[in-house]
Order: sequence, then structure tokens, then C-alpha cells
Amino acid sequence: DTEGPGGTNGTESASETLFERIIAREIPADIVYETDTTLAFRDISPQASTHVLVVPKARHRTVADLAAADPGLLAEVVATAAKVAELEGLHDGYRIVFNTGPDAGQTVFHVHAHVLGGEQLGHFGR
Ligand code: ADP
Repeated sequence: DTEGPGGTNGTESASETLFERIIAREIPADIVYETDTTLAFRDISPQASTHVLVVPKARHRTVADLAAADPGLLAEVVATAAKVAELEGLHDGYRIVFNTGPDAGQTVFHVHAHVLGGEQLGHFGR
């Protein structure tokens, strides 16, 4: 259990999320890059020409939890996102999104960076 103090609220905490099963290769995914501590795979429902998810292999519920518990690992997630952008040829820019909590639409409580690009992205918000 890598959640640490304060990460034990909520019903998803005790059970595996979908992304632990992808990391364990129990569910197939289109993996584009991997490091010892992170995994990048294509989103199953892409919202842009390129839409890749980057996760730390260790489970933390949100980016805020990850920043508090292991800031170095958060930096590795961002570095993997940048590597994915390079591999995907996103030379004109890309967006990294961490949906955090229900109001932001977070549905999988294993922190993940959405890496979006390959086209001019619209403004975001409501
Ligand atoms: P939302 O579902 O509102 O986008 P999240 O920020 O929690 O919320 O993102 C979860 C992401 O995981 C979604 O973009 C969804 O398309 C993606 N997803 C769900 N199942 C899979 C899967 N099996 N393989 C790859 N991506 C998946």
C-alpha cells in the first residue's frame, strides 16, 4: 500500500483501480512508453489526436496526494509526459491535465496525467 497517511479515505482506497490492473498487465493497454516508476498508455476514449495517460506505478489517489507524498515521483510523471510528447511528435505544444476530484470529472482514483495534443486545442473550463 503506497497511499500513506491521509490517503485512506473513500471507497476506492481499499480496492484496486483499473490502472493498477493495467500496470500489472492484467488488462491490455496500448503502452507507448515505460520507466521503472511510470507507465504511459493511450486513452481508450481519445479527446484529441494524441491522448495518452501517464501514471506512476505506485498508487496515489490524486496529484495533490502524490505531490505531498513523493514530489520526486510527480516530477518523473511530468518527465514521462514530456518524453511521450517528444515520441508523439507534439513539437507545437501539448496540454497536461490532472483532473482532481469529482467536480473535475476524475473517475479513476489512481493519479494520471492526461497528455493531449496533435491539434490546436480549445480553451477549457466549464
Ligand atoms: P474522465 O473519465 O472524466 O476523463 P479521469 O480524469 O479519471 O476522468 O480519466 C480517466 C480516463 O481513463 C478517461 O479519459 C478514460 O477514457 C480512460 N480510460 C478508461 N478505461 C481505460 C482503459 N481500459 N484504457 C485506457 N484508458 C482508459
